[in-house]
Order: sequence, then C-alpha cells, then structure tokens
Amino acid sequence: MDNIKTEIEELRRTLQYHSDRYYNDDAPEIEDYEYDMMMRRLKALEEEHPEYDDPASPTKRVGGKADNSFESVVHTVRMESLQDAFSKEELFDFEKRVKDTVSSPKYCVEPKIDGLSVSLEYENGVFVRGSTRGDGNVGEDVTGNLRVIRNIPLRLKKNIPYIEVRGEVYMPKKSFDRVVDRQLINGEKPFKNPRNAAAGSLRQKDSAVTASRGLDIFVFNVQRAEGVELNSHKESLDFLKELGFNTVPEYTLVDSVAKAVEIIESIGEKRGELEYDIDGAVIKVDDFAMRAELGSTAKFPKWAIAFKYPPEEKQTKLTDIEIAVGRTGVLTPTAVLEPVHLAGTTVSRATLHNQDFINEKGINIGDIITVRKAGDIIPEVLCLNEKRSEGVFVYPTVCPSCGSEVVKEDGEAAIRCINPDCPAQLLRNLIHFCSRDAMDIEGLGPSILETFVNNGLIEKTEDIYSLTYDKIASADLEGFGEKSIKNIISSVEKSKKNDLGKLIFALGIRHIGSKAGALLAGRFKEIETLMAADFGKILEIDGFGEVMAQSVVDFFKNDKSRQLVESLIESGVNTKSLVKVTDTRFEGKTFVLTGTLPTLKRAEASAIIERFGGKTSSSVSKKTDFVLAGEEAGSKLDKANALGIEIIDEERFMEMIK
Ligand code: NAD
Repeated sequence: MDNIKTEIEELRRTLQYHSDRYYNDDAPEIEDYEYDMMMRRLKALEEEHPEYDDPASPTKRVGGKADNSFESVVHTVRMESLQDAFSKEELFDFEKRVKDTVSSPKYCVEPKIDGLSVSLEYENGVFVRGSTRGDGNVGEDVTGNLRVIRNIPLRLKKNIPYIEVRGEVYMPKKSFDRVVDRQLINGEKPFKNPRNAAAGSLRQKDSAVTASRGLDIFVFNVQRAEGVELNSHKESLDFLKELGFNTVPEYTLVDSVAKAVEIIESIGEKRGELEYDIDGAVIKVDDFAMRAELGSTAKFPKWAIAFKYPPEEKQTKLTDIEIAVGRTGVLTPTAVLEPVHLAGTTVSRATLHNQDFINEKGINIGDIITVRKAGDIIPEVLCLNEKRSEGVFVYPTVCPSCGSEVVKEDGEAAIRCINPDCPAQLLRNLIHFCSRDAMDIEGLGPSILETFVNNGLIEKTEDIYSLTYDKIASADLEGFGEKSIKNIISSVEKSKKNDLGKLIFALGIRHIGSKAGALLAGRFKEIETLMAADFGKILEIDGFGEVMAQSVVDFFKNDKSRQLVESLIESGVNTKSLVKVTDTRFEGKTFVLTGTLPTLKRAEASAIIERFGGKTSSSVSKKTDFVLAGEEAGSKLDKANALGIEIIDEERFMEMIK
C-alpha cells in the first residue's frame, strides 16, 4: 500500500514539474504523449485509491497559473479542458455515456489545433479584451498582443451588444521555421515546437515582438453572447464566420461516433500536409440543450472528447547516415531510411541525436531500426531492431561543410566544427562579430549581413574589412543609397580601432565572453602573444578554468582561425591592448584572488589590478605578493599562510587603489 502512495506522490510531483515547464516556461522537457501517459496512470491510481485523494492533484487542475506580470482576468465562463482518448474503444465508451443521458445526438468533428486557448471579448462589435486560459478560472490579460494578430477582427461585421468567443492561437509551420532560424542565427535557445512558440510569443512584454512572430488564430466556440440566440455548435460556428472570424477548419456533422472515427482517421492521414500543427481531433455533441443536460466535471465538459493521435512506431532499414553542421557548429546525424508511412506522412529521414546515442544503441548503416513519430514532431530513431551490419557508425573527423578538423569537448555529447569561416556557421558568426560588445559595427546589423552574405559580398569574416563603397554600390542592392553605404564603410573603419579585448570576444571562441576577452587582452597585450600562449599560461589567469583555456588553445590551433587573424592584421585592425597603464603602482606585483568579495566581482578586481600594472594568477606560490581573500576562501588561504604571503581583504584592497 505504501508503494502506491509513494508512486502517487512521485507522479504528482513529476507532473507538476512538467506542467510548470510547459505552461509557465513554454519549454517542455518531455513529449506530450509521455506526459499524457503519466497523467493516465495517476488518474487510474487515484480512482482505485480514493483514500489518497488530494484536491490539489494535477488530475484536478487545468493548465498553468496566470503569470503576475500581466493583469488577471476572471473568466465569467470557465475555460475548460477536454477529456482525452487514445483508442477507438474510448470513443465508443464516450458515445455510450452520452447516450445514457440524451437520445439521438449529432456530433461535430473538428481538428484539434495545437496552440493555446484564448478568450476574446467584444462590446458592441468592438474588440475590448483578450486573455489566456490560465487555470480555466483566471487568465492573463494579453489584449495588446492579441490586437497584432491579423486574423483577430478588431471590429465585427455585425454589431451585437456583447460576445465572448474562444479560439486557439497558433503559429503556422512556416512562421515557426522562420522564428527558429532567427533564434539560431542570434544564438538564442530555439522554441521546441510551434505550440510553445505560440505561447511564448503571446506572453511578450512588447507587442512588436508578438507581431514579428506571425501568429494566427482559429476560433471554435461562442462562450457567451447577448442579443443573439444560438442553438447548436454548427450554428454558432457559421455565425462566427459571418462575424468575420477565422473558424476552425473542416468541421463535419455526423450522427454516430463510428462515422466520427472515419473522419478522425482521414484528418489523421492529412495532418502532415496541413500548414499548422494539430494534436488530435475533437468530437462534440452538437445540440446546446443536450450539452446542458450532459454538464461538466471539475475539469472538462462531458459532451466532448479529444482523440489524440498516439505516436506511431515502425521498423525500417537505415540506408545511410548524413552528417550536417548546424549554425552553432554542432554536427548532427540524420538517418536516411527506406521510406515508411508514419503518423500521416511518409518518413524517409529521422534524427539520430548524437554519437553517444549511436554508440549506446550500437547502430550502423544497413541495420533495421525502429522509428517513431508523434504528430508533427520530427521523427526519431528509437532503437536498433536487427543488426545487419558490422560495428557501429563513427562520425567523420572533419567537418562535412568546410573540411576542418572537428572537436569534442569534455562533458559534452556534441561534436563541433570550430572553424569561424565554416559556411554553415558564417552568418551567425558575422552577427556576433559585428555586435555591440564585440566589434560594434553599427552599420552591419543582422539583416544587412544576411543580404551581403546572400549576394556574395561577404564569404568569410575577414571580408568585412575588404568591403568598399564601389563593391557595395555595384552589387545594386535595394535600399542601399549613397548615405547608407558611406555609414557602413565608416562604421567598419571605426571598428579597426577597437581594443584587443573586443576583438578577442568578436572571434567567437567558445566559452570566451566579453569579460574573458578583456582578461586575455590584459594578460597577453598582443594577439600574437595570445596565439603563442600554451594551456598552462592561459589557465593562470584568475577566473579561467580548464574548459576556457582549452577552448582558446583549440581555437588558435585551427589554421582557418590563424588565417583570419593574419588577414585582420593586414587590414589594419588593431590587435593590441589599448588599456593604458598610467598608474603603475602594482607593477611587478602578482595577486591571487580567492573566495567571494563583498562588492567586487573577481573579474572586476582583476581588471583593476591590471589597470595598475599588476598581474593576477590562479595559484599561490612563492612569487605571489598578495592574496585578496573574500568569504569562503579555501585552500589558497592556507597555502598563503604557510608561505607567509600577505593576505588582504576588499577594504584593504580599496585603500591600496585609492
Ligand atoms: P488539451 O490541449 O489536451 O485540450 C484542451 C485544449 O484544446 C483547449 O484548451 C483548447 O484550447 C484546445 N483546442 C484546440 N482545438 C480545439 C477545438 N477544435 N475544439 C476545442 N478545443 C480545442 O488540454 P490542456 O489541458 O490544454 O493541456 C493538456 C495537454 O498539454 C496534454 O495533452 C499534454 O500533452 C500537454 N502537456 C504537455 C506537457 C509536457 O511536458 N510535454 C506538460 C503539460 C501539458
């Protein structure tokens, strides 16, 4: 019995965790199907063991909590969820339950759009308020962000005193691809799927961001209306159309669940070809009087059910493995398959995750594998089924895009190409190179860089410095007048005078941020000295760990990186530290920093020491002059004591630099 209680508690905790990731962070960590199966298990256990009932259980709650960064909206008509079904039997059980209460019901069948539910309120035909579902009772006021969605009419075609409708805001697949592309270019974490992208885009502080995301809506319900009488779902959908709403596509009226199942199957067949994601189909009792008789549970109406297409699995032959380089340089394997029909589409390619996954499953070209696809999620290879080949597939040691040697960093599953000019990563690197904390080339923003790359004006990073007025002008690009070209050239020229720290950061060395760039510049003063520095020398810098030091060494080992630096020097880009040491009070002195200082960050303290001509080191030795110690200082302090080295605190340090 105790085991059951533990399982129930564990399931509640896990479901709550994933519900927060999904609804509040818009970043799920598991597949919907996995979540749904856990929810089912919990429901079954709770039904069998009412003694462990808990009113706060995830089985009793709808959605997420309203975020307090938006105004709250109390829904006058509760925004309910839907009961779900994963098999035909469950749909026929639903029909039985319905028929126990009402006779000869008709059903409306519609696709279930995978987005997020919103309520839209209109007074005298004018859009006055829009909100998210939240927990079904209280949602968030996102009126401003809904206004920018083109298919939400701001004024209805008919003037009725009041109407509240419910719809699903979604991100069309095309918009999703565009948004994710942009996120990857900008080095941001991309959205996992169109649903989360839609939710994340609607809950933005700035409506301009929402507007740029290309959201759309399908309206599927009248929640409440004054001045109009509606008797059935079909009637209300037709009325919503007349008002100017984009209603849920393809709704069909049938008189039995058996017919509904046929429609659900045909929707399922087509779902791969739709321009939006659907995660199922909904069967709804059509007649409103019957709906009233059937009523609702605490969570969902008893007159509707959502059929969710379960993920499908099939076995097929792995005919090839293609390695592609992503914009972040990560090499990703794609399985090429003998085509199989799966979840409404023909699948001939699937993700193979990474080398660790391939090793773990022992997969190689020629083997029979199992492939899985859930809805519109990219198909994935699940496991090995039948070994038909020898050994296990091994990644190439060079980048398939540029031929540079690839690296695998400790503790990471990913294998990367770190060549800054690898065409697969060029645009992303250029955007970083020109960004404010890097070379700060104002004239070369992301979209201009994209245009230049697409038109062959920039093929590698160093080409930025061979841009000339004539070169840009002769490309005859739209929107590039004399003034804008001159601005570009002058901001490129200006960037040549940047400090070495900015240049190091601009090179895009992994793990080296702008502060680390400044520290490297402060320590090595010239790029040539940095390039010649070994791992140990770099590691001596306070604040540098082994991963950072190794990353710098690997970067400069690469021929393409060295060529880039040489070319930048030739173009007249400054490669020396410009931080002038005017006050040399710490000249010849070595400091070691340890523990947490009360106000200064360690990187700030290091920068101050270097500004006064001193050096910082990461380990205490006889050569150390001062140990600047903060709270929770560890073994360095003991060593300093043993060697008789002067230990100072932040207060004393501040006096020294007065
Ligand atoms: P739901 O999404 O399964 O169904 C209810 C929703 O369907 C309604 O809110 C409505 O907005 C929408 N809908 C779309 N088209 C519709 C139509 N034509 N008619 C009526 N409604 C339509 O239920 P839910 O409570 O919103 O969310 C639960 C789902 O979220 C689960 O299926 C689960 O898979 C997923 N989830 C996943 C995770 C995860 O970590 N992956 C976590 C939490 C929830």
